[in-house]
Amino acid sequence: MSNPRSFDYANRIDRLRDIMGQQGIDLVMLSVGSDLPYFTGYEAMPSERLTMLLVDRVSDPSLFVPQLEGPRVAPGPFDIVSWSEAENPVSLVAEKVGGARRIAVGDHTWSAFLVALQAELPKAEWTVASELTRGLRIRKEPGEIASLRAAAEAADRVLARVPGEVRFSGRTEHQIARDFSEMTLDEGHDMASFAIVASGPNGASPHHEPGDRIVQKGDLVVCDFGGRVDGYHSDVTRTFSVGPPTAEQVEVHHVVAKANASGRAAARPGVPCQEIDRAARSVIEDAGYGRFFIHRTGHGIGLEVHEHPYLVEGNDITLESGMSFSVEPGIYLPDRLGVRIEDIVTTVDDGVDELNRADRGLVEVG
Ligand code: ZN
Ligand code: ZN
Ligand code: ZN
Repeated sequence: MSNPRSFDYANRIDRLRDIMGQQGIDLVMLSVGSDLPYFTGYEAMPSERLTMLLVDRVSDPSLFVPQLEGPRVAPGPFDIVSWSEAENPVSLVAEKVGGARRIAVGDHTWSAFLVALQAELPKAEWTVASELTRGLRIRKEPGEIASLRAAAEAADRVLARVPGEVRFSGRTEHQIARDFSEMTLDEGHDMASFAIVASGPNGASPHHEPGDRIVQKGDLVVCDFGGRVDGYHSDVTRTFSVGPPTAEQVEVHHVVAKANASGRAAARPGVPCQEIDRAARSVIEDAGYGRFFIHRTGHGIGLEVHEHPYLVEGNDITLESGMSFSVEPGIYLPDRLGVRIEDIVTTVDDGVDELNRADRGLVEVG
């Protein structure tokens, strides 16, 4: 669960303080969620025991942790305050907050804690921490890109093994999803996060939960999976054909592949996020499948599978060097089939660095 690659947390906290100054925030409070490991290297267990980092603009940050979790916290540019089972951590934290007025609290903080803190701090004004942290996390540092690349390459190695090693026909989606999770670990991820295997008509549901449907010859199977390396995620999708595809399956797959290529080609610094969505979507619209592409073109990726920037109509944030995100257009024909092709890329000076490079063709499996 820990993040073995070490970053300059003191520098990140300094930059957070600059943003606090600009936005007039007195205190940032981070609990579970990925902002905490971003600033400390420590990932809190999502638990009923409170973990909370307090960052103000002058003093050393304080990290309140349950006593029993103390051994998991590597020292960093913060004081560790461990609380014992008999203490009330909310009161301890509230005491430390003191007179801070404008407070930004981590987006994933449990409402049970926030509600209790609000009762203890009636004068505080609250906002969400992502308003401050997003501007830092959206551009990846070289060490973060190295981890994202290692994760993507591990996922590509899984895909390379699929045609030779994974039997599709006659097996359930569940069994196939287990194969993906196992290979995700085999190929160097610390953890397998998810594996979507959506066969035949189930492919029309983009986030289909693998079930007991038995895969048959003639199915297309959408396989979307990922894991973590050093806390950073992979997330890749390929659609396989069980036996030879029909002309329609080839056609739909071809349109999605073209949309994926068009999205990747449109990405470079200075281009608004929504332009990537338009570049991919227009290919699918021009082919007559526009109403069957029912989600945004992509999402940022890092410590979370889905984070900023989102490649969606209406998002005019411009891409900058170091932003890492998915390009994942799809076509979903209800009750019939689905096709999605997803890759992770990082924006570089003249375009994108493709972290995933696995075969994007319609690969036949048995
Ligand atoms: Zn998704
Ligand atoms: Zn995915
Ligand atoms: Zn994705």
